[in-house]
Amino acid sequence: MAAPVAIIGGGIGGLTLALALRRRGVDAEVHEQAPELREVGAAVALSANGTRVLRELGLGEGLARCGAVPTELIYRRWDSGDRVHDHPVAADYERRFGAPYYGVHRADLQRLLAAECGDRVRLGRRLVGISAAGSGHRLEFADGSVTEAEVVVGADGVHSAVRRWVTGEDPATYSGTSGFRGLVPVEQLPSLPDPQAIQFWMGPGAHLLHYPIGDGSIVNFLAVVHEPERWSAPGWTEDVPVERIRDRFADWHPGVRELVERTSLPQRWALFGQRALNRWYRGGAVLLGDAAHAMLPHHGQGANQTIEDAVTLAECLRDGDRGTALRRYARLRRARTRAVQRSSWIASDLLHLPDGAEAERRDHQLTGIGTTLHWIHSHDARAAATRP
Ligand SMILES: Cc1cc2nc3c(=O)[nH]c(=O)nc-3n(C[C@H](O)[C@H](O)[C@H](O)COP(=O)(O)OP(=O)(O)OC[C@H]3O[C@@H](n4cnc5c(N)ncnc54)[C@H](O)[C@@H]3O)c2cc1C
Repeated sequence: MAAPVAIIGGGIGGLTLALALRRRGVDAEVHEQAPELREVGAAVALSANGTRVLRELGLGEGLARCGAVPTELIYRRWDSGDRVHDHPVAADYERRFGAPYYGVHRADLQRLLAAECGDRVRLGRRLVGISAAGSGHRLEFADGSVTEAEVVVGADGVHSAVRRWVTGEDPATYSGTSGFRGLVPVEQLPSLPDPQAIQFWMGPGAHLLHYPIGDGSIVNFLAVVHEPERWSAPGWTEDVPVERIRDRFADWHPGVRELVERTSLPQRWALFGQRALNRWYRGGAVLLGDAAHAMLPHHGQGANQTIEDAVTLAECLRDGDRGTALRRYARLRRARTRAVQRSSWIASDLLHLPDGAEAERRDHQLTGIGTTLHWIHSHDARAAATRP
């Protein structure tokens, strides 16, 4: 029998929502286009606003087993490696925000979530059509199957099909920046200072972020550059020859060069942003995660905001009529995700300043990074959703 809630997309957002609904006794079915659950793109950094939710869903122990806790947050100069600013993380962070910070492999997070969603995930189901049917929706999939649901959640990512139904054409825009990503064993990085920290290396027209994942023996990196001008590859990732990254970072610190040269399967990701949407739902069709607010990854918040969305929507759908629930969800999430989107966009420009007076001003301002961390990481999405 069709579930009252159909979730389109089995990424971090779709699976977290399915689990959060399940914990509240609401039946939901996830429809994922891929023939198997396979998270792409290496790793993800989960901050307290995300791990707080995942712990409440019962994933605390699992996360502690597969997550690495970074020692510090450090900003460095691109060439000399001089520390520009540092901020403690580790135990200090958990004391301050009430939940830990983890670097995890995406496949591990997905495995933890999927194991709890049981048999409610349908694979090989690409949504190709959506239409109104009575008070609900009729959903058509590429394999010819059809289902109906009262509530349809578009957790189908940056190029969402459900968003087209909800808002009309409102495509995400390519930011003019792309990120090379890779994983490298720590033992191959003898010149990298503090490999167990989260570090931003800031340079002219580019920056590189890295953090440890799993048991700390692997470092995940993302190196962001202002190219290509237009994204023309099909899809939003492409495999790239290692020389491409090596040449771009040839005059950077040896630790950075080791990272970009020693990755085995480098990939380039187009970085997309989404104009803030005025409309988050239409009838019983509602958006969540990247489908609603794709953002640049410079605050490490895309997945964390998606997790916040999921618990908020689950809490709103727990009781009350559908219209009230979706109105309340949109009201709770719109302003916050918009603020994080904006802040992530500004961070992109600041991290890429050429050496000079502006960069020095930025370095000075980094002493205020604790304030930015605070309003983003201290948020308790479930508590906000249960407040009258
Ligand atoms: C380079 C980079 C680094 C990042 N690093 C971080 C980080 O450190 N921390 C962080 O919090 N965030 C990070 N993010 C952002 C984060 O990855 C996303 O915000 C997050 O994955 C969004 O989850 P989602 O479930 O909304 O979408 P997705 O993870 O994109 O999942 C969407 C799912 O929907 C499926 N789907 C799509 N269309 C259909 C359809 N028609 N029918 C059925 N299924 C469909 C897809 O196959 C996919 O499984 C990063 C992003 C990038 C690009």
